[in-house]
Amino acid sequence: MAEKTDSDSRKLLRRLRDTLAEEGEGQERLDNITHLIADSMGADVCSIYLLRDADTLELCATEGLNPESVHQTRLRIGEGLVGRVAREASPMNTGDATAERGFRYMPETGEENFTSFLGVPIQRLGETLGVLVVQSRDGREHSEDEVYALEVVAMVLAEMAELGAFVGEGEALAAPHQRQILFRGGVGQEGAAIGHVLLHEPRVVVTNPVADDPVVENKRLHDAMDTLRGHVDDMLSVAMGTAGEEHMKVLEAYRMFANSRGWVRRMEEDIERGLSAEAAVEKEQSAVRARMGRVPDPYLRERLHDLDDLSNRLLRILTGQGGTGEAGSVENPILVARNIGPGELLDYGRDLKGVVLEEGSVGSHAAIVARALAIPLVIHAERITAEALNGDQIIVDGDQGLVHLRPEDTVAHAFRDKMAMQAKAQERYSSIRSKPARTRDGVTIGLHMNAGLMADLPSLEGSGAEGVGLFRTELQFLTRSTVPRRGDLAALYGRVMDAAKGRKVVFRTLDIGSDKVLPYMKRVDEPNPALGWRAIRVGLDKPGVMRMQLQALIRGAAGRPLAVMFPFVAQFEEFKEARGLLLEQIERERALGHVLPEGVEIGAMLETPSLAFAPRQFFELADFISIGGNDLKQFFFAADRENELVRRRYDTLNVSFLTFLEQIVARCAETGTTLSFCGEDAGRPIEALCFAAIGLRTLSMRPASIGPVKHLLRRVDLAEARAVIDTARASGAQSVRPAVMDWLARQT
Ligand code: PEP
Ligand code: MG
Repeated sequence: MAEKTDSDSRKLLRRLRDTLAEEGEGQERLDNITHLIADSMGADVCSIYLLRDADTLELCATEGLNPESVHQTRLRIGEGLVGRVAREASPMNTGDATAERGFRYMPETGEENFTSFLGVPIQRLGETLGVLVVQSRDGREHSEDEVYALEVVAMVLAEMAELGAFVGEGEALAAPHQRQILFRGGVGQEGAAIGHVLLHEPRVVVTNPVADDPVVENKRLHDAMDTLRGHVDDMLSVAMGTAGEEHMKVLEAYRMFANSRGWVRRMEEDIERGLSAEAAVEKEQSAVRARMGRVPDPYLRERLHDLDDLSNRLLRILTGQGGTGEAGSVENPILVARNIGPGELLDYGRDLKGVVLEEGSVGSHAAIVARALAIPLVIHAERITAEALNGDQIIVDGDQGLVHLRPEDTVAHAFRDKMAMQAKAQERYSSIRSKPARTRDGVTIGLHMNAGLMADLPSLEGSGAEGVGLFRTELQFLTRSTVPRRGDLAALYGRVMDAAKGRKVVFRTLDIGSDKVLPYMKRVDEPNPALGWRAIRVGLDKPGVMRMQLQALIRGAAGRPLAVMFPFVAQFEEFKEARGLLLEQIERERALGHVLPEGVEIGAMLETPSLAFAPRQFFELADFISIGGNDLKQFFFAADRENELVRRRYDTLNVSFLTFLEQIVARCAETGTTLSFCGEDAGRPIEALCFAAIGLRTLSMRPASIGPVKHLLRRVDLAEARAVIDTARASGAQSVRPAVMDWLARQT
């Protein structure tokens, strides 16, 4: 094999491009390409293996191996040298293939004659699509330059595949982004939706991977880099003074990369080989993504992430494509993003039917917004941004944490049927909207709704909720770059109360800290954020913001009754202190001559087991207590609510947990303290029934859950349910669920 020069490389790329432009079937193109590459590189063999499914590579074209083996020879990822190239997503270059670890000789191909082997991954943006191999008899290792040249060719093949150039006979030749794919992620917010993909950052499509004139391409690259540097400088100057330390660090890293000679030099070399400026950016981005998957160090991975983001920006500048998606551009939009900030998510507004994220967490800001918007959210859907295209059909199953991308018709039909049934059921619930949730034996349960946005309030009428049992106040703090103004908050709280038309609204003070960091708050790195400096702990240690919020609540009430509860109280002292702070603010407002609320109820959320064992005086002092079951359950079972490996491990209807809840009910009964339950479990009918059976009389839930919960409660005899639970408990069962389900199935 002779040493190749840059101009040879450019010639080969041009010939490849011409092959693409010619009429012809996908297979014919592939055959031509292997012939061209073998010829240009002076190799005896050139073969293209493409992924047939996630685990299998198929020989799709060859020059030099036995033609009969095309579409017959298959390898698993990791199997043989070709499989190893695909798994490791890096080139393999050897003069003696037989001596390599993992070598596997495939007799049907006749490859025994060829000892020299060079394989490179065909990958696009870190996604491996196949492997390109050249082999020769001469038993020599290829130079670095040749490896590089073949990588450039593989890059062009990947772009061609993306554009559907090889679509034709054989499933393996299908273009990527046409297969149906099932993603198993995590539940961020329950609910289900079917619609079309709306990419938060649409993929840039490179239609011209090969360019004629490196001088022109170099200029395009440098102009785009100048624009990019300008953008980064602008971001930095805007952020200066307002952004937190962490945010500034990211922007500084951006600036460093934007000025990195190494990055630019590699792209210049790619262009020299015949790639267009955008293809050069993509090639380096692919390498970065492949490294991201291999680097274990989280700091380095973050930096690679930054570089990936910069590459995206550069691509958008070069192609003029992209920008943020618009909800109106597709029907029933389901937002797909790597991650998204709360403000950006709110900007899409209520048109969104669902959200799917590659990253995110249950406690993330995006999840809080999705919860407030009551739209299904699936998190940790790995690689979905690489697989999804704008407009693709997509199903989000937030109950199971599943996402079906480009589902087959049967799946889509089944799902539509399920949704139609749910919609019918909702209609049925509307007939009992104004009726009480009274059980057959005459016990009435108060059903309230959880909210977090002004826009939630209309649901009060539609759902039949008696009031707002939990108004989460985080959103107004999360979506701004500075602390909200007291006047603005007071006006909002006032509007919320107006919209509630005299029904009770329980405002929860800011539940923030640790992983839920405000953009303007100094980030503290904590080893275990869920057990860290959060909610009331932040409020009491740094009371400035809490005081301001309490004043805003008092002013918002403008003479009406006010109910405030403090989150995450772990001991009596904390409640006393927080309550004292509120009473102080009332006195201050009185002194200032403001109208005071007609009455103030001050409560605590019971989210840590410790509070259940607080002195009797706590229960006497609290006007009401609301069980935050989401947190309480995670601390009771020591099972992280965000960790998919454990979050479903313990049933809420586990006998231990139920008995614990019952003890809380008993303690509140002793002191006559009003008790409610406002975690997600309150909205699950079987759970709600069991809570009512052990003595809870008020539940607060998502508006959409009120109908199903009320429907079930109205059908049952609570004393009977209680007896079923007691019998199951006495039997030594782990959970009362099977017994309750069984009993329900026997009801008429
Ligand atoms: C809870 O913990 O149950 C709760 C209602 O609060 P959040 O989900 O906002 O933590
Ligand atoms: Mg909580």
